[in-house]
Amino acid sequence: MEIINSPAQIQQYALRVKRQGKKVGLVPTMGYLHKGHLTLIKEAKTKCDVVIASIFVNPIQFGQGEDYEEYPRDLTRDADLAKGAGVDVIFAPRVSEMYPKGYQTFIQIESLTERLCGASRPGHFRGVATVVAKLFNIAQPDFAFFGQKDAQQVIIIERMVEDLNMPLKIVRVPIVREDDGLAMSSRNVYLNAEERRQALVLFDSLKAAKSLVAQGERDAARVKEKLIEIISKAPLAEIDYVEIVDGKTVQPVKKLSGEVLIALAVRFGKTRLIDNIILEV
Ligand code: AMP
Repeated sequence: MEIINSPAQIQQYALRVKRQGKKVGLVPTMGYLHKGHLTLIKEAKTKCDVVIASIFVNPIQFGQGEDYEEYPRDLTRDADLAKGAGVDVIFAPRVSEMYPKGYQTFIQIESLTERLCGASRPGHFRGVATVVAKLFNIAQPDFAFFGQKDAQQVIIIERMVEDLNMPLKIVRVPIVREDDGLAMSSRNVYLNAEERRQALVLFDSLKAAKSLVAQGERDAARVKEKLIEIISKAPLAEIDYVEIVDGKTVQPVKKLSGEVLIALAVRFGKTRLIDNIILEV
């Protein structure tokens, strides 16, 4: 497995293998790989001949006062894990190669970014869409793999691909969880033991919401009440948002029907965790 830093070099590599008729898969990540990322890579291996994993902590998707500096980084460890999972090439560019002096171009997706993480992290999805568009141009993938963990992100990327006629297919991969239900995240390393224990309320609340809906509840306000009640049992939990939105438009729903996304962001100490569930009602 090779590690390539230069965008031009990875682009040449991708164009070369594509000329040989091979399908290229891209798994964009910010590194500090865990089983969630490795599941995306495995999925890519089943669909593609060549798998490129990018590792780039993208500064423009972090707001002022967010954890860009502290975000965990360990390329040596990531390289071992990626190699074990069958990655062919890691693309690990430097910030100065992705955003050289004079950089001016950004991608803005409109109403899909208004709520949830788009509301609590202004500018976040502009940074995400921009880097993902650049990664697509650089790595020329036929397929790109995104986790359902970042539900709003994958909805936005699918929209961008369709709106800008990008010639690739987005593959969604279900959320990978720890044995006790906590969604895997590179940020979980920030949690102390007590925060880690209390963070289980996130998945508990989503499971309770799912069973309420299974019992016939269709009123979004009542489902939201249940979610908040369960999350609030954790004294350290500070809710950023708990929202019930349409799974396609990311606009709030009053009555649950069709594809519904229940998404939440909750802080435990300095760590902001997100989780979600999609229900077909
Ligand atoms: P990140 O490195 O956190 O930016 O994540 C890179 C990709 O991995 C994104 O598409 C995430 O949605 C996905 N991902 C992260 N955590 C998980 C998880 N627990 N389950 C599934 N996919 C995940």
